[in-house]
Amino acid sequence: MKLIIVGGVAGGASAAARARRLSEDAEIIVFERGPDVSFANCGLPYYVGGEIATRDKLLVTTPERLKARFRLDVRPQTAVEAIDRQRKIVCVRDLLHNRVYEESYDKLILAPGAAPLRPPLPGIDLPGIYTLRNLQDVDRIKQKVDHGVRQAVLLGGGFINLELAENLVRRGIATTIVEKNTQILTPFDPEMTTPIVEELHARGVTLRLGDAAEGFTATPDGLRVRLLSGAELPAQLVVVGIGVRPDNPLAVQAGLAVGPRGGIQVNEYLQTSDPDIYAVGDAIEVTDYVLNEPTQIPLAGPANRQGRIAADNVFGRQTSYRGTQGTAILGFFQRTIAITGASEKALRRANRPYRKIYVHPTHHAGYYPGAESMTLKLLFEPDTGKILGAQGVGGAGVDKRIDVLAAAIQGWMTVFDLEEMELCYAPQFGSAKDPINMAGFVAAGLIRDDHPQLDIEVVLAAAPSDRPFLLDVRTETEYAAGHIPGAINIPVDELRNRLQELPRDREIAAYCQVGQRGYIATRILKQAGFRVANLGGGYKTYRLHCPAG
Ligand code: FAD
Repeated sequence: MKLIIVGGVAGGASAAARARRLSEDAEIIVFERGPDVSFANCGLPYYVGGEIATRDKLLVTTPERLKARFRLDVRPQTAVEAIDRQRKIVCVRDLLHNRVYEESYDKLILAPGAAPLRPPLPGIDLPGIYTLRNLQDVDRIKQKVDHGVRQAVLLGGGFINLELAENLVRRGIATTIVEKNTQILTPFDPEMTTPIVEELHARGVTLRLGDAAEGFTATPDGLRVRLLSGAELPAQLVVVGIGVRPDNPLAVQAGLAVGPRGGIQVNEYLQTSDPDIYAVGDAIEVTDYVLNEPTQIPLAGPANRQGRIAADNVFGRQTSYRGTQGTAILGFFQRTIAITGASEKALRRANRPYRKIYVHPTHHAGYYPGAESMTLKLLFEPDTGKILGAQGVGGAGVDKRIDVLAAAIQGWMTVFDLEEMELCYAPQFGSAKDPINMAGFVAAGLIRDDHPQLDIEVVLAAAPSDRPFLLDVRTETEYAAGHIPGAINIPVDELRNRLQELPRDREIAAYCQVGQRGYIATRILKQAGFRVANLGGGYKTYRLHCPAG
């Protein structure tokens, strides 16, 4: 068996190592266009900030080590330029010596990744404007930063640019993020990004939502970035991080099927439209695990797993790829935001019925020092309770909860399973009723109709005459510190004695800080014959939708 792999980083290197473990006899050649294989793309932003202090740490392994351990023939600085499927030959260029030669294959695995988008704007090629994909890119950015950048403009408010923003702030650089959409981090639902936006402001990052670059000019001081809004931003460093597209020219030239957004199409065994050619990683179109529709999700975990699976299939171990559920996480200083499965936006777009709940627990027992609060949003099927997606934002412990929920989605669990889930507990790690259980209790209670719930955005979108009667059941002090406009205050402990103050001809929306006292109030009022619903997730959820200030 002669196996050729194109691309030697996440998907390609995983495929190569797995291939050797499965076959000592196979001839395995890895072609990599760049000088490095198996480097840590995900660590690049932290090298700019100095958190990762030495460049060596970004090199997970080298061609020499791959040769010693796996007897792999790794050829860096060698680009595969064409595939001749009839002759089962690849045409490659040795970029160091500018020599072109052919190499035959029995099986081919394509792992070419995705290239950053670089819009053809006037001035885009001026010095000082970068994209970030590999070590050479990060070298250029770091060198620039080391030589004195005062102002940076980051185009795009996605994961990589937010990570860069943190690192530029750590280097004392005045940083502006320009994002065309009305929210940052578009895989998330907008309200879940509110705490990250607040943290950006707190750290001095300027955020310009709903705006975009229209061109760049050179100035004696560096660059000027012109925005569609008419604003002009001075900068010595610009990083374009507005998304990626599959690095697919090779596949297209070879006539392999690609999807509408350029992703190489593969079957469940990761075989392309040519059964002798497999494809993995950021370059492929995958099936959304929850929505069961084609999508493109560029993440390291899926790329690595797909590499293994493609190698399995090449060597006759029939293994299917289940699809990608888009589990992703971002740290921004002390804040963490994470997602798995479908967002509410995606469910709406796909016209899938769903319900949602928010809970705002602490990451471990509240009485134990250092408890940090988080928000979890859970999306599930209205009838079966099957979990469709989850998002979390807060500090410590968000990663653990989203990982548990990712596993629950992977196993097609329901919110009723979350009620029963037995998780680690000692006060410094969790709660006897873990945030996962809490989310399960609230969601399951909703399906059982224990507590009718209204969603805050539905209430806010209604014409004033159609709005329910807003009842704030928190203490007077909490109410005085901020409440939903139009709400009247009756603390939950006084409610039974003040029922005459409430309307019987109008729906009541009760709320507290996080939803728990609102739930108790709902139970009291429901049994007293009122038409009442709990405002899901309480005042904290309202504040996610309508941030203060
Ligand atoms: P890559 O790892 O990009 O490897 C593709 C390789 O193929 C490239 O090195 C390229 O040079 C080579 N190649 C392409 N065409 C040819 C050719 N014709 N001939 C020879 N070689 C070729 N994901 C996460 O899940 N978490 C993170 O925290 C995270 N952070 C990231 C931070 C940054 C700055 C970047 C850039 C990405 C990050 N990612 C993260 C995404 C993750 O790195 C990718 O999803 C993953 O690397 C994709 O693996 P891949 O094998 O498909 O492509």
